[in-house]
Amino acid sequence: MHADQYNPAQQEVVTLLGAPREARPEFDPGLRDELRDHLEARLEPLIAPIESNDFDGDNLFLSKYMLSQVLGCERKFLAERSEPFSWSPPIARGTVMHKAIELSVHWRGESSPLVLVDEAMASLANADKSIGDYLTTCSESERAELRAGTSAAMTQFLECFPPLKAAWRPATESPIRASLLEDRIVLSGKPDLTLGQPDGAVAGKVIIDFKTGGFSPTHREDLRFYALLEALRILPPRLLATYYLDQGRIHSEEVTHDLLLAACERVIDGAHRYVELVGGTRQPGVAPGPSCRWCPVQLDCDEGTEYLEGAYEGVPGDW
Ligand code: SF4
Repeated sequence: MHADQYNPAQQEVVTLLGAPREARPEFDPGLRDELRDHLEARLEPLIAPIESNDFDGDNLFLSKYMLSQVLGCERKFLAERSEPFSWSPPIARGTVMHKAIELSVHWRGESSPLVLVDEAMASLANADKSIGDYLTTCSESERAELRAGTSAAMTQFLECFPPLKAAWRPATESPIRASLLEDRIVLSGKPDLTLGQPDGAVAGKVIIDFKTGGFSPTHREDLRFYALLEALRILPPRLLATYYLDQGRIHSEEVTHDLLLAACERVIDGAHRYVELVGGTRQPGVAPGPSCRWCPVQLDCDEGTEYLEGAYEGVPGDW
C-alpha cells in the first residue's frame, strides 16, 4: 500500500510510529544493569518472607495483570486470587485477536476479518495450550460470542491500523521476562504488538497495546511495565502506544530514564504489597471504583455497594 492510499486513521499511526534513526533516543548500554541493581536492592528484603512457610510458593511471579490487581483494590485482589482461572469469550478474545493479527501479516492475497478469526481459532484449537482445550470443548453459543466479538475488533483493527509490513518486524504476544534475585522474583509480560528493534544503543522498538473502551491510567502503566522489561532484557523501546480500536485513536508516550525509574517504583511497591497481603502481614484495604461491578465479594462489601449505588462520597460513577 502506498502512503497516499492510507486512510486518515492509518496515516496518523504511520506518522506517529515512523521515525528516522537520527530522531530516535539513545540509551546508555549500562542502563539494564543499573535498573536490575536498583530493583534487586529494593526487592531483596522480600526474599525471607517469600521463602517462609507463610508464603504460597518459593517464587513471586508478577505479570502486568497481577501488578494492576494488587495495586488496585486489595480485598478484590485476594478474593480473585483464590478463584481458579477459567476461559470465557471475553478472556479468550485477546488471544484469538493476536493470532489473527499475526496471520494477517503473512496472509497472501485478500483476507477478511472473519476468515482471519476462523483461521486463528482453528490454529489455537490445535495448539497444545489451555486455550486449545477451551476452544474444543466450549459451547456453541460461547464459540459464536467469541467469533462475533473478535471479528468486530479485527474489523476495527484492519480499518484503522496500516497493514503490517514484514520489514517492520511485527511480533504479537511475544513473551518478555526478567528474572531477579536468582529467579525468586520473576517479572513477565506479553505486549499485544511490537514493531521495530534497537540498533546498537539507539532505541527502535515500539510497543503497542490494543484496547476497546475509554482511556484508563492503568493502560499507560501497563506499557511502562513492558518498557521496563525490555530495558532489563536488551534496551528500552523508544515509544509506547495504546491504540483504542473503537475510537481509531492512539495515545503514545516516549520512553525516558525517568519513566523507567517510575516503572521500577511501581514494581517495587506492587511486589511488597503482594508479599505482605499473601503472607498475611498486611490487612487488605478497599478501593471502590468501576471494577466493583465484577468483584466476587461485592455483595459483602459495604464500600463497594455504596459506590455502586452512587452514594460513595466523592467518587463519581464514571461509566
Ligand atoms: S466491591 Fe469494590 S471496594 Fe469492595 S472489595 Fe470489591 S472492588 Fe473492592
